[in-house]
Amino acid sequence: MDFTLVELDDDHRQLQQEIRTFLEGLFTPDVFAEEHETGSGYNKKVYEELGARGWLYPEKPVEEGGAGFDLVAERIMDLELFRQDARVMMMRGTSSLPLKAIRKYMPADVADPILKDAVEGRVLVCLGYSEPDGGSDIANAKVRAVQDGDMWTINGSKMWTTGAHVSNYTFLVTRTDPDAPKHKGITMFLVPLDTPGVTIQGIRTFSGERTNIVYYEDVVIHDKYRVGGINDGWNVLHGPLDEEHSIGLDMSGGLTDLSIGAGFCRVLGRAINEVAEWAHKTPAPDGSSLADDVQVRERLGAAMVEYEAGLCTPGPMGRVKASDALVQQSASLIDLMGPVGLLPLHADGAVGEADTEYAHRFAQGTATYGGTVEVFRTIIANHVLGLPKPNYPGAKVFMAGKKK
Ligand SMILES: Cc1cc2nc3c(=O)[nH]c(=O)nc-3n(C[C@H](O)[C@H](O)[C@H](O)COP(=O)(O)OP(=O)(O)OC[C@H]3O[C@@H](n4cnc5c(N)ncnc54)[C@H](O)[C@@H]3O)c2cc1C
Repeated sequence: MDFTLVELDDDHRQLQQEIRTFLEGLFTPDVFAEEHETGSGYNKKVYEELGARGWLYPEKPVEEGGAGFDLVAERIMDLELFRQDARVMMMRGTSSLPLKAIRKYMPADVADPILKDAVEGRVLVCLGYSEPDGGSDIANAKVRAVQDGDMWTINGSKMWTTGAHVSNYTFLVTRTDPDAPKHKGITMFLVPLDTPGVTIQGIRTFSGERTNIVYYEDVVIHDKYRVGGINDGWNVLHGPLDEEHSIGLDMSGGLTDLSIGAGFCRVLGRAINEVAEWAHKTPAPDGSSLADDVQVRERLGAAMVEYEAGLCTPGPMGRVKASDALVQQSASLIDLMGPVGLLPLHADGAVGEADTEYAHRFAQGTATYGGTVEVFRTIIANHVLGLPKPNYPGAKVFMAGKKK
């Protein structure tokens, strides 16, 4: 690993200043107030203004709606967004994942306008993978799509479709051949969410984030919205899933976050800073400050080490490490502060921005979404360590490649 600081040349320094000034003007208090209210992870004005400048997908070429940023400029953009605490409002997280599959597997006349609008901030795509019966085993999807000529009729429900209420399309996993082995009977669609028969019902999570359950009742869409071959959905899904799970991710630029859980860890970083400031200002019984207490310092130091480890652990391991660090250390910080650490934002006596209380609530979901940490441990065992598939009671495949 190379931890050398990157020296910015004049152009990059100027760009950094331009981005910072623009983002400071964009992320006004009312944007944060709206996010606090809705938990949608999306703000129309922010999204459209960034998209109009090509800054939503700045790494993409200008002719595709991006800004043609090089790796350094891209990193500057990322860090400036974090500086504004804006990452939580960037729906790009889920919206970006299916774009490559859309380009690769859909006819150009359908895909091109959708992709252009997505990059320029006018179209959002959400992920319709998980179902009420289970999200880890995506290949077990039951939402049914039945073909009739050029049209398909879709029935069933999807759970946890984050962003569905603000998105234009859902990248949907459907079952098209119920008699085939489960991985072979899947077809992917890009379903326009304004199609009659789609009902979206909101769910607020413990951290205040809004996600949705989406019902599909006799939803009829044209075959042009099919992504890839009939019953070939598992192949189509592989790219977006591998990207989400950070398998085979290209880190060659050396300027991206090492850990895919870095976003989780930044929430922990803010909480640690908040507790450190609080400890400095809070008197100990002997009149000194709590920050002078060796036990307080030891606890903050331990949290800091875990925070750094969460930021630096690469690949799928980073997902697990960052979530574990956030879950354990946010609880430890609250324990250190006592009851005041549990006061939410705007409550009388709340400390700072109540980052510690929020970090603890946010932490719990990080062990689940995008694949649970348990599932990630299996991914690490199989893909990184080359170990055989696990042997669960009732599982059909016990050893790599061998059926029992
Ligand atoms: C806030 C939030 C946002 C989300 N956003 C989206 C979204 O936008 N789109 C979407 O499709 N989904 C989304 N999800 C769903 C998420 O991907 C699933 O919750 C996750 O994959 C786990 O599925 P499940 O909740 O159905 O749990 P299950 O799959 O039912 O698992 C239950 C428990 O069993 C364990 N388990 C299951 N299988 C295994 C295994 N093979 N090995 C070891 N342990 C196992 C799990 O770790 C878990 O503890 C979101 C979830 C949350 C909470």
